[in-house]
Amino acid sequence: MQALVYEEGRVRPRTVAAPAAAPGHTEIRVLRTGLCGTDIGAVRKGRPAVTDNTTMGHEIVGVRVSDGRRVVVNPLVSCGICSFCRSGVTNLCTALQIIGVHMDGGFAEYVSVPDNQVIEVPSECTDEQAGIAEPVATALHAWNRAGFGPGSRVGIVGAGAIGLCVLSVATEKGATNIGVTDVDPLKRDHALKNGATAVSASLEEEYDVVFECVGLEATRKDALNAVRSGGTLILVGLADATAAFDGRSIVTFERSVIGSFGYLHQDFVEALPITAKMSTDWVTLVPLQDGPGLLDGTATPPAGSAKVHLNFAPPSSGDALTLETRSTQ
Ligand SMILES: [Zn+2]
Ligand SMILES: [Zn+2]
Repeated sequence: MQALVYEEGRVRPRTVAAPAAAPGHTEIRVLRTGLCGTDIGAVRKGRPAVTDNTTMGHEIVGVRVSDGRRVVVNPLVSCGICSFCRSGVTNLCTALQIIGVHMDGGFAEYVSVPDNQVIEVPSECTDEQAGIAEPVATALHAWNRAGFGPGSRVGIVGAGAIGLCVLSVATEKGATNIGVTDVDPLKRDHALKNGATAVSASLEEEYDVVFECVGLEATRKDALNAVRSGGTLILVGLADATAAFDGRSIVTFERSVIGSFGYLHQDFVEALPITAKMSTDWVTLVPLQDGPGLLDGTATPPAGSAKVHLNFAPPSSGDALTLETRSTQ
């Protein structure tokens, strides 16, 4: 089968053996797999460190081979026995393994994953919507970390996939005033169409809670400055390791700064029905062969696209039209 395999800092298309059936594992025929900042960080910056000869891809939608049902995969595999797992905080597991980073993932025609990681897709979700369950789970976890309720004023820095998913979660949870910033006007348009009440290049008002979904020093600083006194900054973006905060403003305005990483299994389960209500006009389906260039930066995603899905659907399905059309360009 065809797969995109990580090897010595690069990702290459390869023909590999399909995974063998294994006890406790579910075999999935992949329909599409999302490409995200985690994958790009791994290839371009070596963070997270991908195990050599691993098939990448962790935002997987496919069909369970045993019964033909559509499924998605929670890629965070926790040990179940460490103190964090025992207290239910599985995303902080000391032995956390990520499918597509430490074990073979979904940039392939087939993938085999532990049974516990598989979640059935509700019939109301399209494949495209199911394919954004992972970033929506990330957004839902961040929302839960913030602890704000309906009527909150919410700022979102960055209208990439995570920012747009936080926007949809905030709307779903009853936020009434949602400001979104992005330097890209096309992404600001997506935010306006998907529930933002204001868009701009930088946050201009003060908010009860601001979700920083980029992770640059400059955007972290701007995000903190837009938090009202006593409000909360949630850090989700991971672009830079460092932040450039004014520490005194955290003290004197009693702002809370909270990190949010990944999601719990329950977040993933609850994300799916939310995706069914979401517009996916910011998702682009591209053929497998476009993957390596998008990952290493030698190719750029289509203008305004906040999420690329790699297509593994069989040529007989409608999705394959995209693959054929694009490959003849
Ligand atoms: Zn992801
Ligand atoms: Zn654990």
